Amino acid sequence: MPPVRKRRTVYVGDQRWKIQRNARLRDCDGKCDYKTRTIFLRAGLHGADLLDTILHELIHARWPDLSEDAVCEFSETVSALLDAEGFRQPDDHEE
Ligand SMILES: [Zn+2]
Repeated sequence: MPPVRKRRTVYVGDQRWKIQRNARLRDCDGKCDYKTRTIFLRAGLHGADLLDTILHELIHARWPDLSEDAVCEFSETVSALLDAEGFRQPDDHEE
């Protein structure tokens, strides 16, 4: 496995977004800042929770008008499938 990067850049549609891990977030696991085009991911997230949050925030970034329910439904569906298919980091197996 390559080392986990704290920051990376990703194209979401035709927009360039930054992904910032280990963010200090209080009331949520992730956050989209549309002004700076940054997705923040809470420190301490890992495994299926991290995967679900990354997908969730990416969907918000790409489709800002999509309802929260639709975003949750799709991100949970995809993350559960990827988890079941074994897309995990090595340190997540002891959970
Ligand atoms: Zn949301």
